[in-house]
Amino acid sequence: MLEKPLVFEKILRLEHRIKAGMATPVIDIEYSEACNLKCSHCFNTHFKKKNRRLKPADLADLSKQAHKLGLCQFVISGGEPLVLNAIREVIEALNPQLFHLAMSTNGFYLTREMAENLKAWGLDKVKVSLDDFDPTRHDENRKSEGAYDKAMAALFNARDAGLSVTIQTCITHLNCRTERTEQMAMFAADNGFVVDVMIAHPIGEWEGRSDLLIDEEDAAHLREINSRIPALHRDTFPTYGIDRGCGCVNSNLHLTRYGDIMPCGFIPISIGNIFEESLKEILDRGLRIKHFKNYNPLCLSGEDRIFIDQYITSTYGKELPLHWSHVFTEDDFKS
Ligand code: SF4
Repeated sequence: MLEKPLVFEKILRLEHRIKAGMATPVIDIEYSEACNLKCSHCFNTHFKKKNRRLKPADLADLSKQAHKLGLCQFVISGGEPLVLNAIREVIEALNPQLFHLAMSTNGFYLTREMAENLKAWGLDKVKVSLDDFDPTRHDENRKSEGAYDKAMAALFNARDAGLSVTIQTCITHLNCRTERTEQMAMFAADNGFVVDVMIAHPIGEWEGRSDLLIDEEDAAHLREINSRIPALHRDTFPTYGIDRGCGCVNSNLHLTRYGDIMPCGFIPISIGNIFEESLKEILDRGLRIKHFKNYNPLCLSGEDRIFIDQYITSTYGKELPLHWSHVFTEDDFKS
């Protein structure tokens, strides 16, 4: 962060902003659906096509608005960002001197040379997806032979180029309390990485799959590992020492390639569109919806069975994302 003093200043002001009840979300930008893999759990192809798509100029405008609101982090996701010819343009449009920039990647094209380029263009962190330490299982899930070897190499290429490295891994009820979870935490701790646990969500290919959702004992198991090996982290755990529970709107927003803002990448409900409204108007609306405004220790989209039954299931079989007015009623706007 010392390389980016203007970002550091904003991070120092975060606690004050949070205590004042302001949202300080990381905005995950799904710039394009283009990808070199066809992973079985991918949610990427489920959005309704719209005429207007994000361009670098839209990102530059978003970056200006986000800076005015005191926001300090973006994640470039997809699709696979490293298949984009315009990836440098995308990074630079976000104004890297004003933001901590991360990228979610399957690691396939994250060579040492690419990692050094990303660092030089202003990226700070990569989040590499790793499904399993068993190469066959990882490759089967990614439907690509050699994907595991590429992902593993990517972790070290990025670290050696001076980027922060996070392993993104999906935890389900079926694999949570197996030795794999702790093994991954230890591997991360030993190598200077962090494990970002993404719990299973009943959307996309896993629509209706409540058997995959973690339960209370699974959640307790993850907390217990985190107490011994802090390198393993969930987004419901405290960040910068502040416990905000589920981060929808307050700590997370997801921008689709068509300009829709979702409270999180796993809740396919649009709370506004940046081609039609300002980011501030969209944030204000999101914070008036009680499910996002009120503290919830559970992940709304993958753990809170009441929210899942009432709202996530209402998105099944529909063109996504659903417009907020088709999902939330007046009651949802009352505290
Ligand atoms: S719904 Fe779950 S994944 Fe989304 S922000 Fe909340 S805790 Fe995170």
